[in-house]
Amino acid sequence: MSRKRFSAVFRCINGCEEHPLDEIVYRCSVCGSLLEVRHDIDKLRKKKPAEWKALFDGRVMTTKWPYGSGVWGKKEWVCPEVDNENVVSMFEGNTNLFWARRFGKMLGMDDLWVKMCGNSHTGSFKDLGMTVLVSMVNEMIARGKKIQAVACASTGDTSAALAAYCAYAGIPSIVFLPANKISTAQLVQPMANNAIVMSLDTDFDGCMRVVQEITKDNSIYLANSMNSLRVEGQKSISIELLQQFNWQVPDTIVIPGGNLGNVSALGNGFTMLYDLRVIRKKPRIVLAQAEKANPLYRSYRTGFEQWESITPEKTLASAIQIGDPVSRDKAIRTLKEFDGVVEQASEEELANAAALADRTGMYSCPHTGVALAALIKLVEKKVISKKERVIVISTAHGLKFSEFKVGYHEGTLAGVSSTYANKPIMLPPDAGRVREALDRELAARAK
Ligand SMILES: *Cc1c(COP(=O)(O)O)cnc(C)c1O
Ligand SMILES: [Zn+2]
Repeated sequence: MSRKRFSAVFRCINGCEEHPLDEIVYRCSVCGSLLEVRHDIDKLRKKKPAEWKALFDGRVMTTKWPYGSGVWGKKEWVCPEVDNENVVSMFEGNTNLFWARRFGKMLGMDDLWVKMCGNSHTGSFKDLGMTVLVSMVNEMIARGKKIQAVACASTGDTSAALAAYCAYAGIPSIVFLPANKISTAQLVQPMANNAIVMSLDTDFDGCMRVVQEITKDNSIYLANSMNSLRVEGQKSISIELLQQFNWQVPDTIVIPGGNLGNVSALGNGFTMLYDLRVIRKKPRIVLAQAEKANPLYRSYRTGFEQWESITPEKTLASAIQIGDPVSRDKAIRTLKEFDGVVEQASEEELANAAALADRTGMYSCPHTGVALAALIKLVEKKVISKKERVIVISTAHGLKFSEFKVGYHEGTLAGVSSTYANKPIMLPPDAGRVREALDRELAARAK
């Protein structure tokens, strides 16, 4: 049977032990490290690079279940262990690339692209990993495993994705959210999808501790990115990016990071492409952090010699307000392998970068703002050359962060002076007064 031709297992990142993907296990029982999904590369090598490219390209936009998904269109490389009929998918992925022509021009660049991963079912790139995790849970339930529910701790986007995919499959979901630390949209999404919503008086790291306790007895399955099935789905970004550029490797990719699962996912995708000889070089990866939640940036400054977890301060980039990232080791390994750079952005830098990008047609979430601000700084420092092809990973849709947008344009965000605020003009319905105001505004814009 063709689905048995390829295979994958969980393996400790230090190589101590392996487990099948339908076992409920998140850490190595020998050394305590995280596990990662390992594919049988020798088997995958039996297909030539050109054959893989043709196979994946041929599935884009198909309705043939489940291959029209940007994730399941690469099923053999992502999670071959799930039966197609148990896949839980909303045909996520295949998101557009935004050629940042005007924004790039401001930086002197003409090959700058933004991968709009937030143009997705729940408005963030977390859908890419969640489809794999919930599909595997669905598969396990079909094989007779007793799983009561799936749970996660979240800074908002993971819980929205978990709730939606579980609702699609009819599996109960539980989400732990830090009270008053996420956007209204992020809170209401799991509520709407009928998750059990637990609002805890703590931060993300506190929610993470509770969910690890709750999932210990294995009756509730853990959906955080320490579960490497998520990372496997997120990995599809790298392959999809290459497809969109006719399999040409970009020079640099900039991605914002908090818990740091996604930067390693990005790297894993490129490593697999490299190992399977689809590409001959690797891109450089830039990880962007908020200055208020920057433990990796601090470690980077020591050449990754030292590490200190921190208590993060409140940041507008709420999805990356994490001081004790669970995928730290994986991320550092990835950055070492991909000539990595870590940059940080202050609240003002991230907010103004997002607003400036919006003026050129984007609608950036604060995390994308962090990545754009890091890009601006690295171009100024000449770490990134203007000639490069650079891809910024936009991780969520700006519409999920209306409080951020409104606060910016009203000038009420703490610690931010809103350079690009644009307020509505309040006037009586008087054509003369309107004309006057328009003349003034148009003149200002013509400058
Ligand atoms: C989860 C998330 C990130 C960061 O991903 P990590 O794997 O936690 O580093 C960035 N932006 C958004 C919008 C997210 O939801
Ligand atoms: Zn181990």
